[in-house]
Formats: sequence, structure tokens, C-alpha cells
Amino acid sequence: MTQQPTASHFINGAYVEDTSGAPIEVIYPATGEVIATVHAATPAIIEQALASAHAAQKAWGQMSGTERGRILRRAADIMRERNHDLSVLETYDTGKPYSETSVADATSGADALEYFGGLAASLTGEHIDLGGDFVYTRREPLGLCAGIGAWNYPTQIACWKGAPALACGNALVFKPSETTPLSALKVAEILHEAGLPAGLYNVIQGMGEVGHSLITDDRVAKVSLTGSVPTGRKVYAAAAEGIRAVTMELGGKSPMVIFDDADVENAVSGIILGNFYSSGQVCSNGTRVFVQEGIKDAIITRLAERLENAKLGDPLDPETTFGPMVSARQREIVEGYITKGQEEGATLVAGGTRPDKPGFWLTPAIFSDVTDDMTIAREEIFGPVVSILSFKTEEEALARANATEFGLAAGVFTADITRAHRMCAGFEAGTTYINTYNLAPVEAPFGGMKLSGVGRENSKAAIEHYSQIKSVYVGMGDVEAPF
Ligand code: NDP
Repeated sequence: MTQQPTASHFINGAYVEDTSGAPIEVIYPATGEVIATVHAATPAIIEQALASAHAAQKAWGQMSGTERGRILRRAADIMRERNHDLSVLETYDTGKPYSETSVADATSGADALEYFGGLAASLTGEHIDLGGDFVYTRREPLGLCAGIGAWNYPTQIACWKGAPALACGNALVFKPSETTPLSALKVAEILHEAGLPAGLYNVIQGMGEVGHSLITDDRVAKVSLTGSVPTGRKVYAAAAEGIRAVTMELGGKSPMVIFDDADVENAVSGIILGNFYSSGQVCSNGTRVFVQEGIKDAIITRLAERLENAKLGDPLDPETTFGPMVSARQREIVEGYITKGQEEGATLVAGGTRPDKPGFWLTPAIFSDVTDDMTIAREEIFGPVVSILSFKTEEEALARANATEFGLAAGVFTADITRAHRMCAGFEAGTTYINTYNLAPVEAPFGGMKLSGVGRENSKAAIEHYSQIKSVYVGMGDVEAPF
């Protein structure tokens, strides 16, 4: 059962321990048992990580993209070979069932390493002809980057930040969430086994204040956070002091709009993927489901029926399809929202109860009769709770879908192709879906509008956020001066 890592931190190519840092217990969410203890980074550990990354970055940035890419692609292969072990560890770290972690965590991390590894060799500047003189641009690394992760996709987040950062020639110091500190250490181990020079990918543990030390250090050029909006505000503000570049992957309250002509089974599958995968702990979840009046009853009936097929059980059993919440605290937060939903007049159609078992379990909940002003329709819950709202017209649905301070994702289910594209053009969200939901392939940009974030992860777009352009003006003739 123990998942004790070799040491708490991975710095300069090796595991490093410093037990004088505050202990952080790692709890298996399915049982509540302590499975490991790591120690928060002390100032000395933070300094070691930053100094080694800073020292290693220059030579890495001067290597060819082909050489850098080869290492990342080798790391991707190792991750895939070890997918089983990495998935088991991710299940212990997060509580997510193996049926999910084996297909969505290390595999998605490996995709990022492979994709950005493949892209590294083709990063170029451009040539700008001035009719004699010319300018060329160099695409250069930013330098030392700090990454801070959330607890819902620890391996994926460690790779989504690490892969583009390294492909562009940067070094990274990454702090996982203190709730899920284990998997990022494995990512570091694999990268170095694949040939990554020491110091380029460091993992240090700790709470928010360790993150704060990273993002306020003068050597750090860029900060990439995956977390909630309140944390995003603090991190963005601290990064702004040093005019540091940022990527902010923050929370959401995304809409899913289902029209009368939609295929009911597919729409219900979309609701399940967009609300109950990872026990609802997904930033892009479509938690406000707007259903056109004619199809509403059919959708609620089928959703309730299909939720009965959710298999709660040992997350390591490949047959289990629904795991516990990540922590006791997260379950309490979600239960608070369920109580609030009932108090404010929504109808709890199903779920929202604690099964009689140890660990942080909560059954998937459906609310109907939800109105736009209710707390459960406005705030990010980050748990297995869906709100069903009804609408009459397309214009009304779009206006209500956009009436939120968030803008991470949005989806539409309809058989009308022009309406589908019209809706996506109108959605104020960074990632939108037609007749599907919550897929995040590495080839597609991912990120938020409005309060949901700044910048994009994945795809070629991420390159813009981990590199900078330098112009080189080349004079080809005599220099003309006024005197
Ligand atoms: P938090 O915002 O609580 O924490 C995110 C990370 O920031 C943690 O590592 C945390 O450390 C750290 N942190 C907290 N305060 C500070 C600070 N002042 N300075 C620097 N670092 C700090 O998010 P959760 O971990 O609870 O994750 C859930 C949230 O993440 C949800 O809102 C979700 O929507 C969002 N998210 C967004 C995604 C996206 O791509 N848009 C993807 C996944 C999640 P610690 O917690 O260890 O103290």
C-alpha cells in the first residue's frame, strides 16, 4: 500500500531529501489511509532547485531543437512503457479509478512529450526582406520557468508545462499540489532517464508559500499556474511585480447547450463526460447544462438511468468507473454546494450522498429546476454535481451561456450544422465542442477566456508562451547619419 517516494524532491538530476521541511501526508482518497509522507521545500531546497535550473538552462537553450526533441520523445516512450505503474500511482495519488488513469493521465503526458518533442526541431524565426537590408528573427527560450500544479491531473499538468518549456529550451522548477505530490517526481525521473541533462526539470514540494517563493524569484522569467481563480489572481499579481510572462489555466463554470434535435444518448454521454469523469474534478466541465424544453424530460430520465450504471468501488479494479473525491475537504466543499442548491429551490433528482465506506466518496448528483441566479449555477463546484436548466430559443441559450465571469469551455449538441457553428462562434470560451465534450488532445489549443485564464497550453500555440522573439536587423549598405 505504501507509495513512499525515494525522496521528497527531485533537483539537479537526483532525488533530494530535507526532513526539516514541514511533513505533508499523502492520503489515498479511496480509504483515507496515509500512503506516503513528503516534506515541504525549505528555503535551502528552493534555492538548490532554482540555482540548478538557472545554471543548466543556457547550454540546453543552445542545443539544437532536434537534440532536445529526441530526449522528450524518448521520455514519451518510457512513460508509455510504464503506463501501468504510473497509472496505479496516479490512482493512489488522486483516487481516480484505474479505468481513467490508465487512459488519460500518463498517456496524455506522453502525448505532450511526443508532440512537443516532435515540434522542437521545427521552431524557427522568420526572414523579413526590406529591399536590401533585412531582418531575421530568432525564437529564443524565456529562461527559467516556474510551474505550479493543481491536484486533479498531476502527471498531465507536470507534462503539459514541462514538455513545451523544455522543447523551447527553458528549464523548469515545478511545484505539484501538496494534495498530490507523487506523480511529478516520476515525470522528473523519466525525463532524466531519457537523457535530460541535470537541472532542467526539478520538482519541489510544498504549499502555496513555496509556490510564492518561486514566482517572486528574480531568476524566474515565466510562471505557469493551473489552479483556481482566487489563486490565479494572487499568482498573476506576484508575477506582474517582476513583469514575468504568465500562463494561467484557471477554473470554469462552463455551459453545455442541448437542442431539441440532439441525439439523446450522445448528449447524455456528453453530460457524463462533462460532469462525472474524475468525479467531476475537471476544470473544463460543462456544469451548466441548458436543455431545450422539448427534450428536457428525456435527458433527465436517461441521465438518471445511466448514472445508476456508475460503478463505485476499488479504484484499482479496472471495472470501477467512479472514484472518490480527492480529499475530505473537497468533499465538504461539494456537499456545501449541494445543501445550498436545495436551500435555494433546485430539485435534487439523484445522488449527492455519502456511501457507507471509508474514504471521501460522494455519489454523482443531478439537480434540475436550476435557475441562473442560484449559487450552484454561478460558482465552480469542482465535484460530481450537474445543474440542468431549461431554455426556449437559441438566442436566449447563448446569452445565458455567456452570462458568467468564466470562459474556459462550452459545448453544443444539435443536428443543425449551421446552428452548431453559430453557437461556437458566439460562445465566450477558449475551448468549444460540437456534439462531444471534454476532449483535450495535445494538438488543439487549450485555455480560457475571461477569468478562466491567460495563454494557451498544448498545440503550436503553447510555443508562443514558452519562447520569445528577437529581431536582428542586418544593414547591407553604408550607414546614413544626419551629421
Ligand atoms: P488551487 O488554486 O487551490 O491551487 C493550485 C496550486 O497553486 C497549488 O499547487 C497550490 O498549492 C498553489 N498555490 C496556492 N496559493 C498560492 C500562492 N499564493 N502562490 C503560489 N502558489 C499557490 O487549486 P486546486 O489545487 O484546488 O485545483 C483546483 C482548481 O484548479 C479548480 O479551480 C480548477 O478549475 C483549476 N484547474 C484548472 C485547469 C485548467 O487547465 N484551466 C485544469 C485543472 C484544474 P497548495 O494547494 O499545495 O497549497
